[in-house]
Amino acid sequence: MSESACDVAIIGSGPAGLAAATELKRLGVERVVVLERSDEAGGIPRHCGHPPFGMREFKRILTGPAYAQRLVAEAEAAGVSVLVRRSVIHIGPRGLLTVATPNGTVEMKASRILVATGAREATRAQLLVPGVRPLGIMNTAALQAFVYQERRLPFRRPVIIGSELVSLSALLTCRSHGIRPVAMVETHPVVQARPSFFALPHLIGVPVFTGAEILTIEGGRRVTFVRLRQRDGSETFLDCDGVVFSGRFVAEAALAGASGLCLDRGTGGPMIDQHGRSSDPRIFVAGNVVHPVETAGHCWAEGRRVAGAIAADLKATAGPVGHQPALRVTAGAGLKYVVPQRLAIEGAATAHGLNLRATGAARGKLVLSGADGGRLLTQSVRAAPQQPIRFSLAGLDLRSGTGDLLLTLEPAP
Ligand SMILES: Cc1cc2nc3c(=O)[nH]c(=O)nc-3n(C[C@H](O)[C@H](O)[C@H](O)COP(=O)(O)OP(=O)(O)OC[C@H]3O[C@@H](n4cnc5c(N)ncnc54)[C@H](O)[C@@H]3O)c2cc1C
Repeated sequence: MSESACDVAIIGSGPAGLAAATELKRLGVERVVVLERSDEAGGIPRHCGHPPFGMREFKRILTGPAYAQRLVAEAEAAGVSVLVRRSVIHIGPRGLLTVATPNGTVEMKASRILVATGAREATRAQLLVPGVRPLGIMNTAALQAFVYQERRLPFRRPVIIGSELVSLSALLTCRSHGIRPVAMVETHPVVQARPSFFALPHLIGVPVFTGAEILTIEGGRRVTFVRLRQRDGSETFLDCDGVVFSGRFVAEAALAGASGLCLDRGTGGPMIDQHGRSSDPRIFVAGNVVHPVETAGHCWAEGRRVAGAIAADLKATAGPVGHQPALRVTAGAGLKYVVPQRLAIEGAATAHGLNLRATGAARGKLVLSGADGGRLLTQSVRAAPQQPIRFSLAGLDLRSGTGDLLLTLEPAP
């Protein structure tokens, strides 16, 4: 297949991108190309040498690399061109992509584009943690690349910063390779994943400090200690030889932003409607770049769903369907973000509902109101700070002229 023209170009070969590509072929779209900047396709799961991946997709529990290989094999068997070492550096008007390849920069034309560039853990620099810059400071993804792919141990006694699901993944990765974390540290007052999961560090004797301030990371060539101010004001020195910054995911939206797509302040990723359509009618978006961060299975299902919308769009007219009348959905008090941010009224599929995150632990009632302030739907909620929350739109008639929508959290008394 020519690299210079295709029906759909998919940027990113993680679960969302590969699922969408396979589904597009199944729906009869001829020329589907996946562009991946790394030298291997499969996205983040390539590095995660542990289960559980694949339960929803393959009804089996797989490790990340086995899962990634299966997604790639499935896409290629369906006739998708999966091209690695292709970094998309710009999306121009009318589907024109600029792609950096090992042989220089090329241009490529696509009738429709799917952005599936994922999300990344925040780095120490993004978190503004003070101190010196010795060896041994990394994110969970880098830790996993070290131990699972390169079979090297970057440290023996790290401190894990963060308390999300991925922080527990860092803990398990360490323990399964003979690395003994000395502590887990959370700067927020409470752990960010479900509190019941934190039976694990307690069971294996790893202390969890919540509400702690990281005063400094110190060391020479390597990290030697982390100094904390604890919740009660006392200072603690954690003797260690490494630091893992885990979680605090950030949407990988530099390309989308530089290419002029409207970004959402809450997610940091492109704004979409319920079909995954961005502010540019030719460009669709799926996966963790729109909601940092969900499981691989969730991103996979979303990729397939958005592929259906793209295939329908290609069939509908010679050009993109364009923006239909839509209601804006805004995240109000107590909420960090809501996705999608627009609900197109025509062909309104409300079945998937809204995907949201609270600004902290959520306990109370979610309220969806119309432009006149009238309550349209309510739902009770109880969730840990980084736990995904779904809000059902069942029974909501988008055509009833309720105007823009506001979703808020009313905390329980
Ligand atoms: C350490 C860790 C452990 C995890 N463990 C689990 C687990 O056990 N189970 C589970 O279900 N989920 C797990 N997850 C989450 C899971 O990996 C993600 O939900 C999933 O990979 C997201 O899929 P995605 O397709 O949105 O993006 P990604 O998998 O992030 O893929 C995005 C791809 O886009 C590429 N890309 C980005 N920009 C460009 C560009 N400009 N040009 C070309 N290519 C580009 C990237 O290189 C990448 O390959 C884990 C995540 C992490 C970080």
